[in-house]
Amino acid sequence: MDRVAGQPVRTAHHPPGTVTPGSSAEVARLLATVYHRLLQTYGPQGWWPAESPFEIVVGAILVQHTTWRNAERAIAALKGAGVLTPPAIAALDPAALAALIRPAGFYRTKARKLQTFARYLLARYGGDLEALLAQPTETLRRELLSLYGIGPETADTLLLYAAGRPVFVVDRYTLRLLARLGLAVGARPAAVQALCQAVLPPDPALYNEYHALIVRHSVVRCRARPRCHGCPLADLCPSAGENTPGPVHGTGGEMSARLAQ
Ligand code: SF4
Repeated sequence: MDRVAGQPVRTAHHPPGTVTPGSSAEVARLLATVYHRLLQTYGPQGWWPAESPFEIVVGAILVQHTTWRNAERAIAALKGAGVLTPPAIAALDPAALAALIRPAGFYRTKARKLQTFARYLLARYGGDLEALLAQPTETLRRELLSLYGIGPETADTLLLYAAGRPVFVVDRYTLRLLARLGLAVGARPAAVQALCQAVLPPDPALYNEYHALIVRHSVVRCRARPRCHGCPLADLCPSAGENTPGPVHGTGGEMSARLAQ
């Protein structure tokens, strides 16, 4: 990505459904500037915090509808019980698995999701996650989406963080931040993803860091009620100052929605 930090690109408000407010070059410049500003402000986020690709899969399922802190407690319980492997999770009594992952919430549903994934992996790939992840990106995405408990956001998270593919993860934070910046207002996640992937270089390391930084910024500052005073993106943002409660202090520290709540 070209270094363009410090080059303000102002955008105007656009009606819902708008995907692109300007030329591809303008959008690319804005997204590059946002990335550099966020990286300068928060530093590298070090995602995804896991010891193995299978732990990333488990974490991506456990973090659904909850915070990373709660998912982490469930992962720790699985590790403590010595069952953080596909065969062990597949073989566990569903109630015992649900009890272990209770801190993550929706534990019966998530136990079923984990066992669906583990049993599929064993039946189709002999438990070899690397073999599953070696599929071409679109094939792998379709395969992941065919499994109970894996929706588009979780599938894209696994494509990026477990398989290392250049897939831009679009979650509610991404949609909210880009809309506030005047980009892709009211657009569907797939359209926002296509926009970002069209103007950003297909670099998994960049997408990894960018998504983590968006989540961090959305948790720390660009919340439902944004704290615009002192925001590093304020001079780029048509929404700056709207509904803002005032200054924010201490932007460092914990990791984001997934890693900081
Ligand atoms: S200026 Fe406010 S609305 Fe815009 S990105 Fe910053 S916190 Fe969000």
